[in-house]
Amino acid sequence: MAADIRAELRLKVEAMKAKGKRAPHLAAILVGSHGPSEVYVGHKIKACEEVGFTSSKLSYDVTISEADLLEEIDKVNANPEIDGLIVQLPLPEHIKADNLINRIQPEKDVDGFHPLNFGRMVQSLPTHVPATPLGIMEMIKRAGISVVGKHCVVVGRSRIVGSPISILMSRRRFGYPGGATTTLTHRFTPDLAHHTRQADILITAVGKPGLINGDMVKEGVVVIDVGIERVKDPSKKSGFALKGDVDFETVAPKASLITPVPGGVGPMTIAGLLKNTYHAALGDIYTREYHYHD
Ligand code: NAD
Repeated sequence: MAADIRAELRLKVEAMKAKGKRAPHLAAILVGSHGPSEVYVGHKIKACEEVGFTSSKLSYDVTISEADLLEEIDKVNANPEIDGLIVQLPLPEHIKADNLINRIQPEKDVDGFHPLNFGRMVQSLPTHVPATPLGIMEMIKRAGISVVGKHCVVVGRSRIVGSPISILMSRRRFGYPGGATTTLTHRFTPDLAHHTRQADILITAVGKPGLINGDMVKEGVVVIDVGIERVKDPSKKSGFALKGDVDFETVAPKASLITPVPGGVGPMTIAGLLKNTYHAALGDIYTREYHYHD
């Protein structure tokens, strides 16, 4: 599905260029040398190349001050050649992520983390929807999964995944599935299994490998596993393996559909980011036609 989205975008970019417009341009801020972050930014840049976008990796030393980074964001905001800007998280402790995100011009906030964009998403208005939830909605839509009236249980309430996906699944946003009855569970939820067993659609975004096992789901459940963590695995050359929140071995036999880790939500997140960047370049992010319904 992610490859399909990239192919669709590639055609759209070619059409843009044929009309004499420049290609969409994504910039990514990377602070320090955090291994997984370097890998994630690398994947995003590679995906940009594949669809014909321009990309810029803006790397800064781990010692850069927050004030200097804010100035760098101002420069990108003022640069008409750049359509989208993301700040790769996590950041060093002396820098507050919220301060950087709030400084990004909302039209260029293609991660959809700015409070203005998040608020518009809650109100079902056209906006940049955070990339991972957008990728998940695309996946549900393309797989033809029926959502209206189903019970969707979300595990984890982070601002970048759990909270927004619970909102999107419960509402109806033009062109996307929705209309589920949604339960949002988190670290203070007693008896998690009581909730997960009721799920027609289970979406987990926690970061605890194997948190959900086969006893915690019902037959036929659709499982979307966002979690991705490194666990030691001496059988691998690298010495580690990537694991999701879901114990695939025991859950997959009961599930009607299940996403793998890695190779499931990850590529769809990048596809979501590319879609947002394309719309930022088109300039229709807040003006797209929409129909609000409760
Ligand atoms: P986070 O660390 O910000 O939040 C984790 C959430 O899990 C919290 O809301 C917490 O309340 C909840 N939680 C913790 N323990 C729990 C428990 N025992 N039962 C129920 N809930 C519990 O999370 P995040 O940033 O959303 O990331 C979650 C995972 O998803 C991580 O592994 C991350 O690497 C991964 N992730 C993957 C992608 C992707 O594209 N594939 C994107 C974002 C995050």
